[in-house]
Amino acid sequence: MKAIRGAITVKADTAEEIKKNVRLLLTKLTEKNGLTAENIVCIMFSNTSDIHSYYPAKAAREVGFFNCALFSSIEPDIDDSLPLCIRVMVLAETEITPKHVYLNGAANLRKDITKKLNIAIDGPAGSGKSTVSKILSKRFDILYLDTGAMYRACALACENAGIDCKDEASVQAFADSVDITVKYENKAQKTYLNGRDVTEIIRTPHISMMASVVSAYGCIRTKMVELQRKIAKENSCVLDGRDIGTNVLPAAEFKFFLTASPEIRANRRLAENELKGFNQSFEDVLREIKARDEQDTGRKIAPLLKADDAMEINTDKLTEEEVANEICSVIQGKI
Ligand code: C5P
Repeated sequence: MKAIRGAITVKADTAEEIKKNVRLLLTKLTEKNGLTAENIVCIMFSNTSDIHSYYPAKAAREVGFFNCALFSSIEPDIDDSLPLCIRVMVLAETEITPKHVYLNGAANLRKDITKKLNIAIDGPAGSGKSTVSKILSKRFDILYLDTGAMYRACALACENAGIDCKDEASVQAFADSVDITVKYENKAQKTYLNGRDVTEIIRTPHISMMASVVSAYGCIRTKMVELQRKIAKENSCVLDGRDIGTNVLPAAEFKFFLTASPEIRANRRLAENELKGFNQSFEDVLREIKARDEQDTGRKIAPLLKADDAMEINTDKLTEEEVANEICSVIQGKI
């Protein structure tokens, strides 16, 4: 007899979510351990106290595990415990070495036995990368690294020092003194320039354009890519940018390339800019989007490019939730 452990998080406390994820957890656990319903003796579930809508044991019976003993219980409230989490222990008549299965956000519970997850999301400005990446980081409970923020901070450093971003020699002479760091506070990225939090002030349309200019320089890219690789090596994370799949993490297991027409992207950016209080016309935003596309795809070093092994998703007619769902189902199918 062997005991096999597993856990999964659900997106919400609904019967539908609980049933779907119990099915996924049991399917993966039985597949990985070569089990059938016949050699399972009992399945015990526990779940965090924020789950009330459905008994995981009932969901297990409904997906075909009715010949074994099934049991569900609620865990005590523990500070900082992973929310919306269902844990399972399966007792089975088998000789195999158990392969435990931790999925979605629960993968982080057992970093010792789960593979590190790096998700690369590339695409042009306004294709939905950052919102989709934030949704994915929540769903998998992994970090989100916004690499564009790092190039934006470099552009701000030049501007603050009175250096013309378009003058590569001056930027190069100055680049060594630029200190960019990334920290996570309440799981949200904060970008620091020389020790100062610049997370908000780098989001202006002017800094967008200047980031695109300085990001074409080798002296800037080498430094930023080194930092990005270090963060990705040490953490499970979703990274968004222009060259993640092609250059930063060419060996990443999951690569996606988001696209959308310039007009749709300009409309999205216009709506975001309005919320931030930037007064720009649609034509101005469209012009900037096209100029950035041209700079980012036309540069010599690490241009904006779909990696051969990246999956392309056109987001013209999709909401960010829909894009995230599509990406999640591809990833779930492979892990
Ligand atoms: O993604 P975001 O719009 O914040 O990026 C700002 C600029 O930084 C982009 O236009 C691009 O030129 C540059 N960038 C890059 N490589 C990345 C991320 C961003 O060159 N990985």
